[in-house]
Amino acid sequence: MASTRDSLPWYVVLSIEKDHAAEPSGHSHVLGLATRDPDGGETHWTLVQVISAIRDGERFVVGEDPDDQGAAIEPTVCPQCPRATLVVGTPTR
Ligand SMILES: [Zn+2]
Repeated sequence: MASTRDSLPWYVVLSIEKDHAAEPSGHSHVLGLATRDPDGGETHWTLVQVISAIRDGERFVVGEDPDDQGAAIEPTVCPQCPRATLVVGTPTR
């Protein structure tokens, strides 16, 4: 997982789409992302597309500093229910 391929581009996350209303317990899941692409365009990704792309080695980074490893998007399972969602890696502060 931690293979360093310096030439690999990353997608900068512009916005995160969540399903705020879904759960009685008040938590939410990520439904998709909008990103700034390495070629300068923009893409909207569904949750499934993001997880698939990450498994293929793509990187999704929140914010403008790709060297901040804490800002990488990672797939996870919701801690409160069995649904898949995304989490932003724990920031080191
Ligand atoms: Zn949940």
